Amino acid sequence: MSEFVIAAPKIHTVPVSGGGEFPVRRVYCIGRNYAAHSIEMGGDPDRDPPFFFQKNPNNLCASDQFIYPPKTGDVHYEIEMAVALKKGGINIPVSRALDHVYGYAVCLDMTRRDLQGAAKAKGRPWEIGKAFENSGPIMPIQPVADVGHLDHGRVELMVNGETKQVGDLNQMIWKVPEMITYLSEYFELGAGDVIMSGTPSGVGPVVRGDEISASIQGLNPLKIKVI
Ligand code: MN
Repeated sequence: MSEFVIAAPKIHTVPVSGGGEFPVRRVYCIGRNYAAHSIEMGGDPDRDPPFFFQKNPNNLCASDQFIYPPKTGDVHYEIEMAVALKKGGINIPVSRALDHVYGYAVCLDMTRRDLQGAAKAKGRPWEIGKAFENSGPIMPIQPVADVGHLDHGRVELMVNGETKQVGDLNQMIWKVPEMITYLSEYFELGAGDVIMSGTPSGVGPVVRGDEISASIQGLNPLKIKVI
């Protein structure tokens, strides 16, 4: 093989609870996967086909600090569950989908809502609102061997001790196996892919100094300060 002509970028990784690093290949995020959140974002709560957008792999950051991003005055939190894949494929049947999961973690889909809203209004892509630096705070991934598969459990996000978002994993319109199957019909999934599984209602803004606590029953909670 010939040499790289510039320094090769590092493979981005997220720590694994208990040791090791999970290399991130792609990040898929589902939109409007809880009926109440779909309604608050102006959508239809019916079970329309799901839609996905992407973040960049190196937007996922295991840190206790969230750096308030530039070019926005309206950054929102969205608590989500990250699903980390250990193998990929195409046309994965629902019955086999969970065999592809390495583990789970609490994460945040931080969003420049003002920029996302402006993009939406013009029918433009969402990356400017979604795929910015540090936009995916995430906890160390917990292997299925330790936590099993999660299909129910309380989801809660607090800002400065005040509850802002509450839901349950069992309220997801598209369940984890269904999301894997759907994505695998449109993309070739691979080991290292991470799926962010959508947020309950109650999204809202943060400012510098705020402390966000995000928890999903059965997983280690995420605490992060906005700086
Ligand atoms: Mn989201």
